[in-house]
Amino acid sequence: MSDARWPEWLRHGRMFTTDGHMYDTRRERVDIRRITRTIAACHGNIHRLTAHTFMGWSYYDSRLGPKAPGLGDQDWLAEARDEGARYGVKLLAYFNMLGYLDDHPLYGTCDSVDERGDPIVIYRVVRAACINSPWRQAVLDVVAEVFRRYAPDGLYIDWAQKSCWCGYCRDAFRRLTGEALPGTEELAAAGIPTSYSWPEGSEAIDDARLRAYAVWQQQCRDDLFKAIGGVARSIRPDLEDGLLTFEHGDLVVPERPGLGVRLDRERVERYARCTRSAVPSTMRNEESRR
Ligand SMILES: [Zn+2]
Repeated sequence: MSDARWPEWLRHGRMFTTDGHMYDTRRERVDIRRITRTIAACHGNIHRLTAHTFMGWSYYDSRLGPKAPGLGDQDWLAEARDEGARYGVKLLAYFNMLGYLDDHPLYGTCDSVDERGDPIVIYRVVRAACINSPWRQAVLDVVAEVFRRYAPDGLYIDWAQKSCWCGYCRDAFRRLTGEALPGTEELAAAGIPTSYSWPEGSEAIDDARLRAYAVWQQQCRDDLFKAIGGVARSIRPDLEDGLLTFEHGDLVVPERPGLGVRLDRERVERYARCTRSAVPSTMRNEESRR
């Protein structure tokens, strides 16, 4: 990363990752202090470490939701912060708040649903939660809790809102446009590419209602990321540019909307052609039917 606005440690960042969801913490104890020392020994300067994962679990002592099973009194963020301060390894708190399991107090109250009203299930077991529901506030509360307690050097957001037809989304879109949410068939036929990669260049979408939908989807995500950044900065004003948001692996520069994929008429045509023959596998909530 070469932009001079970024802090030196980020511009020449050598990041190592510990993902909570890659471990079965009921069976093994992950020694975060040792991992931190190993990162330093390998000349790494950043530890991207799970604060909260897509299953609704936290890897620190949270008052808001369940802790990952088996962690007991172990607190990953505290260990990484303390050992990192000793060895010069910055802490990036990783948040993926795509969903929850039935051990979460909000389970079933914030579901993302498909257009038939069935909860969207990811990885066959996890219910996706919708950021236009009360889950949005839950997300902001978790971020605030982490920043207040651990003051990490930055945050890494790794999820994006899926297309959703819940009551909150239906109401929000109707308030904005006076229209009903479009369905998957209609979106695919118009060449709107995937359920959660709305690109820039929405003017290439001819239909005003579908164009408004694409813009609104992107806006929902941008607003949430800005709100998360606002929460983090309100607690750590010195953060300024230490925020990284990612959507499915693509870096999103916080103050610029969109994924950097430019939509034009030729691309819309191409997407429309291929989605017409592949709607069931690309846009429907396949897993929920299994
Ligand atoms: Zn929704």
